[in-house]
Amino acid sequence: MGTNGSLFLIGVLLGSAATAPASAAPPPPALAVNNQVTAAVPASVGGILGARLDLWRRVRLWRVVNNPFLLDGFAHPPGKHPWQGEHVGKWLHAATLAAEATGDVKLAAALQEMVVKLVATQQPNGYVGTYAPAQRFYNQIEKGDRSTWDIWTHRYVIHGLLSYSATHDDPAALQTSINAADLLARAAGPPDGDITRFGTRWGLSSAVLLESVAMLYQRTGDARHLAFARHLAGSIERNPHLRIIAAMRAGEDVTVSGDGKAYQLMAVLLGYLELHRCTGEKDYLDTAVTAWEKIQAGHVNITGGPWGYQVAPGTNHECFAAPGFFHPTCCVETCSTTTWIQLCLSLFELTGGSRYADAAERALFNQLLGAQSPNGNDWAYHSMLNMPDRGYEDTITCCASSGPRALEVFARHLVCASKDAVIINSYVPVVVSLARLVGQPGTVIIEGGYPFAAESRLRFDLPAPTVLTVDFRLPAGAASLELSVNGKLERPERTAQGMFRLRRTWNADDRVAVRFDFPLRSHFQTGSDGVRWIGFSWGPLALAQSVTAQTDHPLPVLASYQESDDGNRWLEPAAVTRKPPRAVDNVAEAGILKSEARLAASTVSVPSWRLKAPRRIILVPYFLAGTEGGGVRTMFPTR
Ligand SMILES: [Zn+2]
Repeated sequence: MGTNGSLFLIGVLLGSAATAPASAAPPPPALAVNNQVTAAVPASVGGILGARLDLWRRVRLWRVVNNPFLLDGFAHPPGKHPWQGEHVGKWLHAATLAAEATGDVKLAAALQEMVVKLVATQQPNGYVGTYAPAQRFYNQIEKGDRSTWDIWTHRYVIHGLLSYSATHDDPAALQTSINAADLLARAAGPPDGDITRFGTRWGLSSAVLLESVAMLYQRTGDARHLAFARHLAGSIERNPHLRIIAAMRAGEDVTVSGDGKAYQLMAVLLGYLELHRCTGEKDYLDTAVTAWEKIQAGHVNITGGPWGYQVAPGTNHECFAAPGFFHPTCCVETCSTTTWIQLCLSLFELTGGSRYADAAERALFNQLLGAQSPNGNDWAYHSMLNMPDRGYEDTITCCASSGPRALEVFARHLVCASKDAVIINSYVPVVVSLARLVGQPGTVIIEGGYPFAAESRLRFDLPAPTVLTVDFRLPAGAASLELSVNGKLERPERTAQGMFRLRRTWNADDRVAVRFDFPLRSHFQTGSDGVRWIGFSWGPLALAQSVTAQTDHPLPVLASYQESDDGNRWLEPAAVTRKPPRAVDNVAEAGILKSEARLAASTVSVPSWRLKAPRRIILVPYFLAGTEGGGVRTMFPTR
């Protein structure tokens, strides 16, 4: 996800160079397109997001780094699993962001050690993978290889090393990426190489390399890397099963190119956005925007998750399917949720459009946090709206390696900056340096129980009165917001990007209160079984029932005698005391307990509702339902 790799670079250039680890690397080339919105690393994050970040950083991160599975395949090929090589790159990305955010010295040392070991496995020809020599991509050029994940691995190796070297003066890490890219270019680059001869889904699984190569150009400014990136985009377009730009221009759905494999298709879209940043060519941006609109309109469920379904024997349940195939048991791969969040945030940075931030927020607070077990270690591979079990597992999977990246990337977008304003993009408790945002002394501090509470408090810690324009984003699912400063109601102007704008001279003792109208909404959707299903949301939170056992087709519980988006017709408030977390008897108990204690101290009560009599089913935020062991039911059949 070059998004953050590259934005990360831009962030370092614009504002955070003084606090990033020293780097003597040459400055990256000027990009053709600058972001409208700049992300910033917060000094601290609290509330539910802070607790979940803390759990990943204290528990899962170390469970992964200490596992030989990450490097064994590189050091002693062949690896045991076809895409075993992706995990080290994903870990390097997420752990680099965590290290910069926390300043954790032990983590910095572990990162460096991992990079040194990975770099040492590079072959003299540039290969950094886990395949036996005869199966390596450069020995398969003539006949191609439809089963290989070798290029996929290289995408993540390059991405991880570039993420690391963006904030570390490590010429070896950068050179390893360059050598790997050069080997890939000899196999699939100009003048007549074809990346789509390799990999699954007509080569879509290899086409994801585009993002890493574009990121490499952003780092080196070397014309041959840009030529390679352009060539990759051209190869995708020349393949009649992919041709993503042409497909979007022709009005096709996202179910067509590469069988609509959700994770991979969105990963290529990330590549287009990086190539747009490099070249300024609008086709790449337009393609990503068009695809985003199609996904948002027809392929995202009530929890913000991009769902899939196996329509034909040649596809699988991780492929986008036409909206008519929707069912509450359709699958969302956590890798897809992660890539969707990255895509939304990259588009938010490029355009400033609040709709992209809304979609990222909905996916984060529902689908992504729901896929992360509150034990801090386990992740779910596939999640559904209605499922008999959360499916948390300890195994190192693609999804468990992806999820933490979305947590870290999202955490850099809580408070952002545009050329005109500080952007309050989220209302979770956070402290962010104004120096990082707009180059002025001071900090912005957000407090409160968001998103469990429909309100938030904000203040600036300033050495002197400061004129600042502040844009407040309306949260996903909110109908309106009300701003008051020192008890006086303000009348913010509405910007073209959908933000609520206040410009004034701020003092250290100013207190901002933000109150949201979070309507209780009902959402109807007809399933592939012909059933009219209903689900509920409150603000950005989807609501769901915790169930210890369920069938895929629960008995009708609701009457849809007259459809309405007013959830109050079916629900009434319920007071629920959240049970204390289960005792954890293995890893990092201290970290878990501290995080849970912090969460308990920083939040108001968890909002909950009850289906009206006679059913009386309790609904809580989706991401908390079923996490104590059991399943979750988000949509209910009507009759
Ligand atoms: Zn996955």
